[in-house]
Amino acid sequence: MRVIIVGGGWSGCAASLEARKKGAEVVLIERTDMLLGTGLVGGIMRNNGRYTAAEEMKAMSGGELFDLTDQNSLHRGIDFPGHRHASLYNVAKMEPIVRRLLLEKGVTIETATRITDVEMQDDRIRAVKGKQVKEDIRLEGDVFVDTTGTAGPPANCNKYGNGCAMCILRCHSFGGRVSVAAKAGVKEMVGERDGRIGAMSGSCKLLKESLAPEIVETLNSKGVAVTPIPRSRILRGKLAMKCCQQYALPEFEENIVLLDTGHAKLMTPFFPLDALREIPGFECARYEDPYAGGIGNSIRYVGMAPRDDALKVDGVANLFCAGEKAGLLVGHTEAICTGTLAGYNAVRYIRKEKPMVLPAGLATGEAMRFVRTQMRDDGILSLKYTFSGSVFFERMKALGLYSTDTEEIEKRVDAAGMSGIYAE
Ligand SMILES: Cc1cc2nc3c(=O)[nH]c(=O)nc-3n(C[C@H](O)[C@H](O)[C@H](O)COP(=O)(O)OP(=O)(O)OC[C@H]3O[C@@H](n4cnc5c(N)ncnc54)[C@H](O)[C@@H]3O)c2cc1C
Repeated sequence: MRVIIVGGGWSGCAASLEARKKGAEVVLIERTDMLLGTGLVGGIMRNNGRYTAAEEMKAMSGGELFDLTDQNSLHRGIDFPGHRHASLYNVAKMEPIVRRLLLEKGVTIETATRITDVEMQDDRIRAVKGKQVKEDIRLEGDVFVDTTGTAGPPANCNKYGNGCAMCILRCHSFGGRVSVAAKAGVKEMVGERDGRIGAMSGSCKLLKESLAPEIVETLNSKGVAVTPIPRSRILRGKLAMKCCQQYALPEFEENIVLLDTGHAKLMTPFFPLDALREIPGFECARYEDPYAGGIGNSIRYVGMAPRDDALKVDGVANLFCAGEKAGLLVGHTEAICTGTLAGYNAVRYIRKEKPMVLPAGLATGEAMRFVRTQMRDDGILSLKYTFSGSVFFERMKALGLYSTDTEEIEKRVDAAGMSGIYAE
């Protein structure tokens, strides 16, 4: 049973872990030299409905990655505008911790390996092909998972954004994102914002050392620092560009909202450096990610695979997808939930078992179902979906799915017959 997972972001890591737990030989392929993809510069977990989703996953025995982010959190239970009980993982330390777990579990990890083509046999992928550093590589598998995300490559950031801002994905060094589904002939869906294609990533990272000591002190002790922007310097209009509609609140436009994820996470897609340095406390500010955070950020959601609720990609018999590839889902938690299901169903596919669909009575199941119906049946491509805010969090609350009571969540998972489903 050989499962090939292309893309080592949070969704690919989760898919690898689950497929391995279910006994498959797993190869995880990543273009760059590090796992976690955009999760290398993220960090926010457990805010609003993400808490519920994480606890559902734990009750289903799919909680290992949440345990790791919890253990590596610099702050827990913090509130910031529009968000409650967030945890912030330390982005500087997360990647080796996840890599170690996957290696311990027996996942084969191939970094600096970029897939650029697929070999088809009828409606199935037989092998993926590409380059490992400079060598040609071809890997055969029984089933494949596309977790290549939707960020970049630079041509998209140039065409639909403000140009390459030199983000953590380092496309110029490792080559840009290539979608396995698209290479297999699938017509992908494209996200929109204000009639434009894609959406801009919604946060940057500043070097803490470049900020005033009192800001750093607040950040280190409280996890969050909010500095009002003088009225004349507020840059209006950035909220509409954002991927992260859960942070598209006036508070994020009128204030500099910083979160402590190791660096100072600046909750805005970009902020011209000269303008930023005019704000008291930010006179020496310097970007850590993207390096050109003064001009723009990465463009995402330009290629999502049509799929069913078991995360099987339409039109290719042995291809599953997860994370951003599976739709307009924003976040690490969302990537881990979908990745785990994709890894689980990849193994069921090899065993010739019917793929599993999570019940809509669980927040995790409803998220996958709701996003699919909104995008595919209703043709809505301008919204983003996350447990942590905006449309889907409102839906969770309306359906009574939002809870921070672990016992209640465990009971709900149990009543749905899903307790321990992801166990080894
Ligand atoms: C700046 C920024 C900050 C964010 N902050 C947060 C946050 O605080 N909290 C939160 O929950 N979410 C945050 N997000 C969103 C979150 O990171 C993503 O929605 C989620 O992690 C996506 O995971 P993924 O696995 O689907 O994709 P990605 O993280 O994009 O991973 C895809 C991986 O596939 C690899 N890849 C692509 N093509 C190929 C190929 N052909 N061959 C091999 N490898 C390939 C890429 O190199 C990449 O590592 C942030 C996003 C950004 C950009």
